[in-house]
Amino acid sequence: TRTLRIGLIPGDGIGREVIPAGRRVLEALPLSTKLQFTFVDLDAGFDTFKRTGTALPDKTVETLNKECDGALFGAVSSPTVKTAGYSSPIVALRKRLSLYANVRPVKTVAAARSPVDLVIVRENTEDLYVKEERTMETAHGRVAEAIKRISERASLNIARVAGDLALRRQRVRDTGAPSIHKRPLVTITHKSNVLSQTDGLFREAARKALADAKFQAVSVEEQIVDSMVYKLFRQPADYDVIVAPNLYGDILSDGAAALVGSLGLVPSANVGDGFAIGEPCHGSAPDIEGRGIANPIATLRSAALMLEFLGEEEAAAKIYAAVDANLVEGRLLSPDMGGTATTEAVVEDVLKRL
Ligand code: NAD
Ligand code: MN
Repeated sequence: TRTLRIGLIPGDGIGREVIPAGRRVLEALPLSTKLQFTFVDLDAGFDTFKRTGTALPDKTVETLNKECDGALFGAVSSPTVKTAGYSSPIVALRKRLSLYANVRPVKTVAAARSPVDLVIVRENTEDLYVKEERTMETAHGRVAEAIKRISERASLNIARVAGDLALRRQRVRDTGAPSIHKRPLVTITHKSNVLSQTDGLFREAARKALADAKFQAVSVEEQIVDSMVYKLFRQPADYDVIVAPNLYGDILSDGAAALVGSLGLVPSANVGDGFAIGEPCHGSAPDIEGRGIANPIATLRSAALMLEFLGEEEAAAKIYAAVDANLVEGRLLSPDMGGTATTEAVVEDVLKRL
């Protein structure tokens, strides 16, 4: 039996409603998975900021670093007006824990009219998100500029994550799981026709990483990011694993979430070496906060994704299957999916199917 210690960071708004749901599903994993969990509750977010003056207390980072094997992060609210001293805790966590990959699977369940089963692997530490900006006064008015930093090292790393994921997805298919894909494919996304040095380096490094003998079974294609958007929306079934630098990955993955109908379904994981934080893609949803109707499925899938990256593929598969069964039956759906079920009712249904 393996015991995993999981940090729970609900954050703000519906984060406080969906993270407990994630905990319950982990606790209910059948004994056959030989997994046990202990949990530690941790603070972060805008309410924490208002209470303590910091959105990400050091204690949260230290506990994750020293005691935890993984974590679940709910959502945080950002202040609508610029607030001195506030900065996003999840962006800081990604940096402080070296979570260099952001992984977002987007998938329809069986019988969808336009099937989608893809994963976007986004580089999580550099590109324009190094936030090195400056504004200059010139004779013609103000000019602002930003550094777009691409390193060979981070690009090699992220491409390996994508290659590993493509192989893992193929292993799952080889066990007979139904899928729209027959072979592993990684699509490298960039704009090196214009940005020949930065995106050129990303492309070259990704190609190099995926040329390794380990990835021999993986087909590798490239797509310029603007035509990628077009094709992704026209023919989503053509894509298996998509790897992209930070900014393109951010935009593509929010867009791809639209392919499956509700933000409440789409999970993500922030992944580093030996550590993963599961995080639903949605925000704190102040419009439905406190009503007990938030869709918990993005969080349940994020918990499964975290387990996958902690090496617990079998346990993850059980959660995915239970969630998919709930969706396929379609009897207990939350309001964002056109149903009337509460968060509680959806969780109970998924628990029964575990
Ligand atoms: P949002 O994702 O919170 O909500 C967008 C819409 O989707 C809302 O109508 C909401 O009710 C609905 N929705 C989202 N998740 C749902 C769920 N699980 N079940 C049912 N419906 C759901 O995005 P927003 O409204 O743009 O932002 C609200 C707050 O969240 C802002 O303060 C924003 O900064 C923050 N935010 C945080 C994150 C994060 O923590 N990673 C991501 C996005 C937005
Ligand atoms: Mn985004």
